[in-house]
Amino acid sequence: MTDQHPPRIVVIGGGYAGSHAAVAARRAGGAVTVVDQDGLHGFLPRLAGVAAGRLRAGDARTPLGELLGVEVHQGSAERLDVDRRRVELAGGAVVPYDGLVVTVGSRTARSPVPGADEHAWSLHTPDDALALRVALRETSHLVVVGGGATGVQLAAEVAAAHPTMTVRLVEAGSRLLPAEPRMLGTSMRRLLDDAGVQVHLDVHASAIDADGVDLADGQRLDGLVVWAGGWEADASALLPRAEFRDGRVVVARDLTVTTYDRVLAAGDIAAHRDVLGRPLAMSAQIAVQAGAAAGASAVALARGERPTWARLFELGRVVDLGDRGVGRVGPVPLGWGPTARLVPLMHLAIDLRHLAQLGGPLTALAHAPGRGGHLDVGGHREPLRAVG
Ligand SMILES: Cc1cc2nc3c(=O)[nH]c(=O)nc-3n(C[C@H](O)[C@H](O)[C@H](O)COP(=O)(O)OP(=O)(O)OC[C@H]3O[C@@H](n4cnc5c(N)ncnc54)[C@H](O)[C@@H]3O)c2cc1C
Repeated sequence: MTDQHPPRIVVIGGGYAGSHAAVAARRAGGAVTVVDQDGLHGFLPRLAGVAAGRLRAGDARTPLGELLGVEVHQGSAERLDVDRRRVELAGGAVVPYDGLVVTVGSRTARSPVPGADEHAWSLHTPDDALALRVALRETSHLVVVGGGATGVQLAAEVAAAHPTMTVRLVEAGSRLLPAEPRMLGTSMRRLLDDAGVQVHLDVHASAIDADGVDLADGQRLDGLVVWAGGWEADASALLPRAEFRDGRVVVARDLTVTTYDRVLAAGDIAAHRDVLGRPLAMSAQIAVQAGAAAGASAVALARGERPTWARLFELGRVVDLGDRGVGRVGPVPLGWGPTARLVPLMHLAIDLRHLAQLGGPLTALAHAPGRGGHLDVGGHREPLRAVG
């Protein structure tokens, strides 16, 4: 590699990890191309607000070209030719690389409940949120299956935005937010009760059809059903020689995929660990950190230098319901009394920080929630920045 030819860094996926990988690689001197199947950056933590109608439709996503000062190639990566160091896209295009970062994210986990994959809606992509936004206009009953962060957010946001709608939430465990400390689940239950959401704990959905859900205790809940049972990652087609843990690619401390040359993985697709070696859950917070580290390391690797270790750490968690929420900063819980009102402000600050890190304060202002453009969504003219 000579100084005249900056290393060609290709980032597959332009989500939270990919956008930060691209910017970090550009700042480290790489010539960066982002390959993304939609050419759009999805703001996934905003999707419940978009689906419910509190946020503008245009807040769901934005063109990557507007967000990142790098080349964006819209296309779906199908396989790697590692010998010739190039990414092969659907339709036959190829993109050569000197260093590669794979950040293709996750998807809604397949449901074990009969009928769910055919009949239940999901909330994982901007398209999901926009479709749900339209479908919610046609129903008076919503049943959300899954009491994790996405399920509670969606139930509360819909109950607030559609006051006449009956909103029910079904959770198989004995409390909400099972991945979080008990106190957050308790605070969340109180907020959902206040919002008018009917919560069914300790019961699982046994079958889902086009008109509703059968519960294992014999109850029947009619309405539009959303499956919010979690996410899964699968990069086996792109990285067939990788080692996987729970579907996520095993990476070294420098985020290299150990069985590949000059290939790194970051975000939901990678089985990240924190500085103490503890497994980290999928989150935008970790994807941003890992993406930035992987982008810089891809440039180092392509130059024949040693990449540095990624030091990933979880600062806390916020579950934003729009006007209130629960969360924690480290172990300190939020969501009791007046602290519930702080959570949306913290979420907004995190959202703006993500954007400012990519392109500075003007980028943050331009793409802040509430700044979307316009598009026809389900026959209504609605604000939408990007045409899907
Ligand atoms: C509804 C919802 C709410 C959430 N709320 C929060 C929250 O409040 N806080 C938090 O920290 N986390 C939250 N998360 C999780 C967070 O959004 C994800 O962990 C984060 O987006 C992961 O980033 P990523 O870059 O790995 O994947 P993504 O952001 O999903 O990006 C993946 C990108 O890869 C592209 N892609 C996929 N396959 C291909 C291919 N073959 N070729 C080309 N491009 C491809 C996709 O189009 C997408 O642009 C939420 C997630 C959801 C779904």
